[in-house]
Amino acid sequence: MTKMMKQAVLAAPGKLEVVEVPVPSPGRGEALVRVLAVGVCGSDLHMFREGCIGGITLADAGGPFVPGHEGMGRVEAVGPGGDESLIGRRVFIEPAINCQHCRWCLEGKPNVCPHHTFLGLPPQDGCLSQYMTHPARLCEPISDDLTDDEAVLLEPLAIGVHSLDRVAPVAGRSVAVLGCGPIGLVHIMLLARSGMYPIIAADVLDYRLEAAKKLGATHVFNPTWEDVVKGTLDLTRYGADFVFECAGQRDTFAQMVELAAPAGRIGVVGIPEEDVLCYRHSVARRKGLDVLMIRRANLTFGRALLRLQREKLPLRDLANGHWPISHCQQALETASAYGQGVLKAIVNP
Ligand SMILES: [Zn+2]
Ligand SMILES: [Zn+2]
Repeated sequence: MTKMMKQAVLAAPGKLEVVEVPVPSPGRGEALVRVLAVGVCGSDLHMFREGCIGGITLADAGGPFVPGHEGMGRVEAVGPGGDESLIGRRVFIEPAINCQHCRWCLEGKPNVCPHHTFLGLPPQDGCLSQYMTHPARLCEPISDDLTDDEAVLLEPLAIGVHSLDRVAPVAGRSVAVLGCGPIGLVHIMLLARSGMYPIIAADVLDYRLEAAKKLGATHVFNPTWEDVVKGTLDLTRYGADFVFECAGQRDTFAQMVELAAPAGRIGVVGIPEEDVLCYRHSVARRKGLDVLMIRRANLTFGRALLRLQREKLPLRDLANGHWPISHCQQALETASAYGQGVLKAIVNP
């Protein structure tokens, strides 16, 4: 008898269904993973709410589509050619399946591999499922002292590490983080340990600003009733030397150049609903700003893991809402509505 499992599929925008399907068997070089925890990411929410992200639509899946890319689990089997020492190990699932052969893969930039697929981005199914197969080379064993939640949050943390690599903030200078969702918060966590001052954080949700303060933000602004640009200029005189845009909003794209200091460097991490990035040209030009586009993580999982363990980053505090797979609709709805003070929603399949 074929073994069955539960799997979440996005039947239509806003509508997740839990279906019973056969457990897949691992092909050549693949591992079969019993998925234990999946984080709900902002990019999943774009797909969930709008049925598209950056021009890629639900229809591109060409059938039932499984969302989710922040996953971890335990390897139960490997296919031919897969590393058998993985069997029984808890692993972090690296969601980007790169080609390994193109110029960018060979030059250490697999995050921009033009031939890659990514979990939970059509047409590639994601990990919101009790079992999944995945290239064994992209299943990273983790030690037992790491919780399931921490393993899931390694993905956003690795993005933060990559983002800091790109923008290269300098100790003793000022920084502003616009948007305090999980991505903004991992930035604050890392920046707080990089000797930056002040660390300015902005978000429209007060519970997120509370979290930002706990994690090391020295000054917070809620743009609903405060002027973030003026506040930053008052604090820093000429603006923030480094800016991380982690909200993906029309307003924050405009603000990031206004509140940056001359010769400032800006990392654009947020993904907007409308596929447009707008800011005042004259301001960016006269200040000679560097505006850097941050594309996911880039070979930074190992360093994210090391920083998590050595610096005891309070990553697990972000995972404050858990749902079983049978209630994944609720998990995504709650995350989508920014409800119940949830910073990172986790589904346990
Ligand atoms: Zn993510
Ligand atoms: Zn490649």
